[in-house]
Amino acid sequence: MAFESLTDRLQVAMSKLKKKGTVKEEDVKEMMREIRLALLEADVNLQVVRGFTKRVGERAIGVEILESLNPTQQIVKIVDEELTKVLGSEAVGLNKNPKIPTVVMMVGLQGAGKTTFVGKLSNFLKQNEKARPLLIAADVYRPAAIDQLKVIGQQLDIPVFDMGTDVDPVEIVKQGLAQAKENKNDYVFIDTAGRLHIDETLMGELQRIKEFAQPNDILLTVDAMTGQDAVTVAQSFNEQLDVTGVVLTKLDGDTRGGAALSIRAVTGKPIKFIGTGEKLTDVEVFHPDRMSSRILG
Ligand code: GDP
Repeated sequence: MAFESLTDRLQVAMSKLKKKGTVKEEDVKEMMREIRLALLEADVNLQVVRGFTKRVGERAIGVEILESLNPTQQIVKIVDEELTKVLGSEAVGLNKNPKIPTVVMMVGLQGAGKTTFVGKLSNFLKQNEKARPLLIAADVYRPAAIDQLKVIGQQLDIPVFDMGTDVDPVEIVKQGLAQAKENKNDYVFIDTAGRLHIDETLMGELQRIKEFAQPNDILLTVDAMTGQDAVTVAQSFNEQLDVTGVVLTKLDGDTRGGAALSIRAVTGKPIKFIGTGEKLTDVEVFHPDRMSSRILG
């Protein structure tokens, strides 16, 4: 999809306004309309857009009348600051356990990029911290999921613990954690089952795993390309599991990243990492200011 950048839109709105010489409340309204349209095009949730434009509008009216030298830049700056604020202001890393291992439980719908992300982050930690992670294959519904994790483990030379598909996932996690303690692994990633849609059985199972494993982080993986659906998914996972962070994948496509804004606003949980491609090195720590620039275009 081709987007007209928010900055360009504001430029156009402001150029009309400059001819009139003064900045009035209705001019700000016109700008807010541009901002609203641009955010909706970037797939930001309607409620979130409303709250956001209201705040920007309130700030904009006061500022420009005082310093009308370059109003567009000022408005863009306000939008940028407000976006960054909603997105969380600062980068947030993993919640680390003072004692090893740090346990990270991955949750999310099937196809969101959960298993790939387990590979990406464990590899990142191995490369950057010389970490020795263990990956636990706790998706007992899809044999292909276990194989996929094993293939990733082989590629990265990172061990994978699995017990096949006939064992209760909590038991797998129990034995996997015992092995991690014995081998002094510093990180454990639990790759849980996903489904095409959220259902009670899945949530019940994830809650049992959570209760047993007491993870330091529960990271919800969400596909940024699913737009508005991503928000609904994030909301229900968060309600049922009280996740500690979000991983936004597939930000390498055309997507503007509006999902980041909505998910953060709706769940209040930090986006910790982003996936930017299919390769196991395509992972980045999430930076709110960079995402704001991306949304601004
Ligand atoms: P899971 O079912 O949640 O474990 O999802 P997978 O890890 O199997 O990923 C589903 C598909 O998405 C695979 O084809 C991955 O290669 C792809 N994928 C995962 N992360 C990214 C990403 O950041 N960008 C792109 N383009 N593809 C991704």
